[in-house]
Amino acid sequence: MEKISELLLQWYAVNQRDLPWRRRKNAYEIWVSEIMLQQTRVETVIPYYERFLRELPDLPALAAVEEDRLLKLWEGLGYYSRVRNMQKAAKLCMEQYGGQLPKTAAELEKLPGIGHYTAGAIASIAYGEPVCAVDGNLGRVYARLFLLEDDMTTPAGRKKVEDLIREDLADDMGSMNQALMDIGAGICLPGEKAKCILCPLQAHCQAFQQKRTAEFPIRKKQAVRKKEEKTVLLCIENDRILLHRRPPQGLLAGMTEFILLDGMLPPEAFPGCIPLGNHRHIFTHLEWSLTGYCIYGTPKELPEGCFWAPLEHLFDTYSFPSAFKPYTLWLKKQTGSLK
Ligand code: SF4
Repeated sequence: MEKISELLLQWYAVNQRDLPWRRRKNAYEIWVSEIMLQQTRVETVIPYYERFLRELPDLPALAAVEEDRLLKLWEGLGYYSRVRNMQKAAKLCMEQYGGQLPKTAAELEKLPGIGHYTAGAIASIAYGEPVCAVDGNLGRVYARLFLLEDDMTTPAGRKKVEDLIREDLADDMGSMNQALMDIGAGICLPGEKAKCILCPLQAHCQAFQQKRTAEFPIRKKQAVRKKEEKTVLLCIENDRILLHRRPPQGLLAGMTEFILLDGMLPPEAFPGCIPLGNHRHIFTHLEWSLTGYCIYGTPKELPEGCFWAPLEHLFDTYSFPSAFKPYTLWLKKQTGSLK
């Protein structure tokens, strides 16, 4: 039987997805794509990626861009600490690596925001280093191939997969990693959805042979998400709106938001308000239940860090976290800036 690495390279040569960051083996472009793809699907990422690359085509441009502009380019992707870390890493590369990303996975991993997986992906694809890049998708494929019972989200589970891959490295690990990314994203789907009929690894797959694909990877119990209730206030006065800058550390660090109060307060608390409806937003470890109102004037008590901003050009100047999306959309409609 042909080895897994050989089957993957043959399959990839014919079936690889045509993605913008695959057209050239450029480390910066691969890096941007890998960071955007964390928590976000390929189809969603492509337009963001193209816009980002048009404006920040290389590492020096990323290092030099103003933070507000950078956050604006990231708006809609969420998890803004990712792009802040990218800029920190870009600045470090300007100082220490002559304006380029370092050339090995071990050095890449020392940069802010570049984890083990991303370092492996960049080093193998851009520089041909023989290293693997194990993420959740790849963990699922190997858990099924070898009936691994480990939790694939833990370092121990990942290490087991890496050890198995090291026993069967391809000549071109960049292509093997990308083949596994494509199979994980499009064929070896979670739960009952695996499309084994299309899979080049069927003959090696123990879960397929034993009809146990849906059992793997074995899921560990998720930690219970904390729940919080909040009231969002769009406080408008003449041609301006009251905004709040969140603290530099913690959830949505440094982001601009509307006025946010604890608890879901009733409309009677804000006489003359316009109710904007309820909304639920889920973060990784936290869930917000929000209710929103537009009020004219200033609320009695204001949190620290509030400031007035002109409504004109508001959405060109500030980026708002997606947690506030329905309220942002409402305001865009009112101010006529919905494009
Ligand atoms: Fe996944 Fe099915 Fe392929 Fe096994 S045969 S790796 S379960 S898609």
